[in-house]
Amino acid sequence: QHFMTLQFTLVCIKHAETNPPLFRLRNGFQVLRIVAKDVTQLPLIKDLEQFTELDFWTYVNNVENPVDIRVPAHSLQYVKRYLETHGIGYSVMIEDLQAMVDEEQEQMKAAARSAEVFSTDSFDFSNYHTLNEIYSFQDQLVAENPNLVSKIVIGQSYQGRDLNVLKFSTGGSNRPAIWIDTGIHSREWITQASSTWFAKKIVTDYGRDPALTAVLNQMDIFLEIVANPDGFVYTHTNNRMWRKTRKPNTGSSCVGVDPNRNWDAGFGGAGASSSPCNESYRGPSVHSEPEVKAIVDFVKSHGNLKAFISIHSYSQMLLYPYGYTYTPAKDKAALCDDYPAFSSPFPSDQASGGSIDWTYNQGIKYSFAFELRDTGRYGFNLPANQILPTAQETWLALLTIFSHVNNNPY
Ligand SMILES: [Zn+2]
Repeated sequence: QHFMTLQFTLVCIKHAETNPPLFRLRNGFQVLRIVAKDVTQLPLIKDLEQFTELDFWTYVNNVENPVDIRVPAHSLQYVKRYLETHGIGYSVMIEDLQAMVDEEQEQMKAAARSAEVFSTDSFDFSNYHTLNEIYSFQDQLVAENPNLVSKIVIGQSYQGRDLNVLKFSTGGSNRPAIWIDTGIHSREWITQASSTWFAKKIVTDYGRDPALTAVLNQMDIFLEIVANPDGFVYTHTNNRMWRKTRKPNTGSSCVGVDPNRNWDAGFGGAGASSSPCNESYRGPSVHSEPEVKAIVDFVKSHGNLKAFISIHSYSQMLLYPYGYTYTPAKDKAALCDDYPAFSSPFPSDQASGGSIDWTYNQGIKYSFAFELRDTGRYGFNLPANQILPTAQETWLALLTIFSHVNNNPY
C-alpha cells in the first residue's frame, strides 16, 4: 500500500517533466529545505534523487542535517504533495531563486571594473569577480611578488583554459607542501572569492605573521583558485547554478561531470550517480575530467604534499576521509580530535569518488574538505558582503592546519 502510493506520486512527477533537464533559471525555482523526522524518512527523501530536474544542494545524510533541493516551478506542486503525503516536514528556504540571482548580478554590475588588475592592493575583495579578473589578479600578484609567488599551469580544462596554480615558496626544492583548491564546483562562488583573498593574505602576512612565516620558511603552499574554470565561466554567462565540468557526455544531451565524484576512490559507489543528467554524475571513468586529471598528475609528480585541502560551500563543516566507506580512516583521531576549535568535524555522507579520499589513500594524512558559509539562508548565492568575514574566519582554520602540519612532520 505504502509502496504503491510512492510509485504513483513519482510517476506524476515524471510526467510533469516536460523540459529537458538543462536548468533554465527563467522558469523559476524554489529551494525547499526538508527535515526528516526520523531515519525511516531518509529513503523516502532519497527516492527523489532519481529526478534529474531536482537539484540537491545538500545530500540525504542523517536526521540532523536538512536536505535542500532546488525545484523547478513546474515540479513544485508534485514535490510538495509527495512530501506532505509522507508526512515529511519542509519549509521554503528560497522563495524566488531568480530574484536572488538577479540581485547578485546587479551588484556585480554596480561594482563593475576593468578586467585588468593594475595593483592587487586596489583589488575589490568584497565583490565577486569573473574568471578574467581573477586570472589577471593572479598575474599581477606574481609580478608584484616574484620572490614569493609563481604561477604554474598544471593542465588545460576541457575547453582549453589554463589550469593555474599559485605557488608560494621561499626557496628550497620540492619542499613539503600544502595544497588548496577552490571552485571545483563552479557555483560555489564564495570559495573562489575567499581563495583570492587568501592569496593576497599570504603575501601580506609573510614576514609579519610569525605563524605563517614559520610555515613558509619550511613548506610551500599551492593554491588553485579556480579548479573548474569552464564551469565558472558558465556560471557567469549562462547558468549561475552550474556545478559540473563542461565536457559533453557521449550519448546524452546532458553536459558535464561532477569533478568531486570522479576520483579513483570508491569510484562508482554510493553517493554518486551514473546518469549524465544528474548533478552528481561520476563520469565515464576515473579521472576522465582533465580538471581532475591535472590535479592527480600534479599530486603524484610532486610526491611531497603533506596536506590537501579542498574547499566547497555551503553548510559550514569540516570534513575528513572517508566519504566512500564507513570504515574509519586510520588517522581519524588525529584528523578529527585535534581541532576542537572548529565546528565539529563531521564524517561526510557516503559520497564516492571524492578528492580527499583519493589524496588520503595516496598517503596525504591531512586531507580535508571545507564547506564554507552559510548554513542555508542564501546557499550558493552568498551575498558579497559576507566574502570578507568568510575568508577571514576560514583563514584562521587554515593557518591552524598549516601550523599543525608544519609542527608534526611525517
Ligand atoms: Zn562542492
